[in-house]
Amino acid sequence: MLEEHRSTQKISREDICRQLRFCAEIRALHSARPGGPPLACTQTYGCQQNEADTERLRGYLAEMGYAFTQSPAEADVIILNTCAIREHAEHRVLGAVGALVHTKREKPGQLICVCGCMAQEPHTAETLKRSYRQVDLVFGPQALWRFPELFHRLLTRRGRIFDTDLSAGAIAEGIPVVRQEGVKAWVPVMYGCNNFCSYCIVPYVRGRERSRAPEDILAEIRELVQAGCRDITLLGQNVNSYGADLAGGMDFAGLLRAANEIPGEFLLRFMTSHPKDASQELFKAMAECEKAAPHFHLPFQSGSTRVLEAMNRRYTREGYLEKVAALRALIPDIVLTSDVIVGFPGETAGEFEETLSLIEEVRFDALFTFIFSPRKGTPAASMPDPMPREEKAAHFQRLVAVQDKISEEKHAAYIGKTLRCLVDGADEKGLTARTPGNRLVRLQGGEELAGRFLDIVITGANKWSLTGEPAGG
Ligand code: SF4
Repeated sequence: MLEEHRSTQKISREDICRQLRFCAEIRALHSARPGGPPLACTQTYGCQQNEADTERLRGYLAEMGYAFTQSPAEADVIILNTCAIREHAEHRVLGAVGALVHTKREKPGQLICVCGCMAQEPHTAETLKRSYRQVDLVFGPQALWRFPELFHRLLTRRGRIFDTDLSAGAIAEGIPVVRQEGVKAWVPVMYGCNNFCSYCIVPYVRGRERSRAPEDILAEIRELVQAGCRDITLLGQNVNSYGADLAGGMDFAGLLRAANEIPGEFLLRFMTSHPKDASQELFKAMAECEKAAPHFHLPFQSGSTRVLEAMNRRYTREGYLEKVAALRALIPDIVLTSDVIVGFPGETAGEFEETLSLIEEVRFDALFTFIFSPRKGTPAASMPDPMPREEKAAHFQRLVAVQDKISEEKHAAYIGKTLRCLVDGADEKGLTARTPGNRLVRLQGGEELAGRFLDIVITGANKWSLTGEPAGG
């Protein structure tokens, strides 16, 4: 069943073909159905990795003959791809699953599937089994490649299915993909995580790190560029350890260099990077590859070395600052973004001040800020946490105010510059574009500009975004 050509196992081609045969059988089951193709509705929570997983589920569903709808009420099958990273996300998912009891009552025969990280947590799977009887199929990220087989069993035998065994994980290639329309695409380069940061559930639900073979990744990027994608994000929980399980010696810097050789005008982004593994070699590769976007997302989480140790992050405040300095020495105008957690258990007021001072020292372009959320089963969930919620909330507000001011000042410095941006969409306010460093630019213009690289003069800014107009226009 598994090809063992390196320390990570790869699902064999025959196994994927078997899954595609299940898809064909399901399509045949639907063929006698009157009134057009059956409808599927997918809902994704959480990170881009989940978005990429949903694109594969939609690929399988399309092979099964499903068309897509955004309305759960009219769907024959609903898939919720869930996130377990924060309590809030879990509550949202359970709220959404709870509401589906009504759609199922209105549409008997509707099938409800829950997958993703939350489904892999034993206590959540148990809750779904006991208290959410409307759910028919539950499976974790490791079982995604077997979705057709599980779904076929559901359709042909009835009875609820729970498939949440946590295996070591494997790499599956050849799963069909239905991507979101547009010029952006996500390409997973690896799955899982070995780091066990003390607050994080990911290693428990997504398994150990395993890298895709470079030739498969490069073939996918080539295909995407040929299909018109212009902004490609390489995904992994910690892309910096890409290749550690591969026989050929390719690391992430090497992968970036190889992707940079693919012909065409496009940008390469990546996320996420762990500071302990962000190497000088990667910084050099970024500086030398013209397609590597000048944007680095480097989560620091805390400015206090003591808190970083309690988080099991395995770098110090000084080590982090050294990495930033090394990166900026090679790419002075790099756009730097980060994640920070406020109110980690045991964080003192003084340690919070260290976080603020790090923010003021680095001057990030943008920050993703979170108040600590305990995740059942992680070490941090049982650490003493004496700071009252109100004090954490006050710290959070202070931090946001400091970062807002920095973001506003950094954005203001763009005014008058001309940047080559990718027009990537439109909303009710007009066209949207992204600078190479991934800052949002709003502009007016015809839809024919969508999907094109354009020189844009920046004419205005606020803390969230820039405004601009086509240069020479
Ligand atoms: S590096 Fe840490 S925070 Fe990121 S996924 Fe792994 S354990 Fe979670």
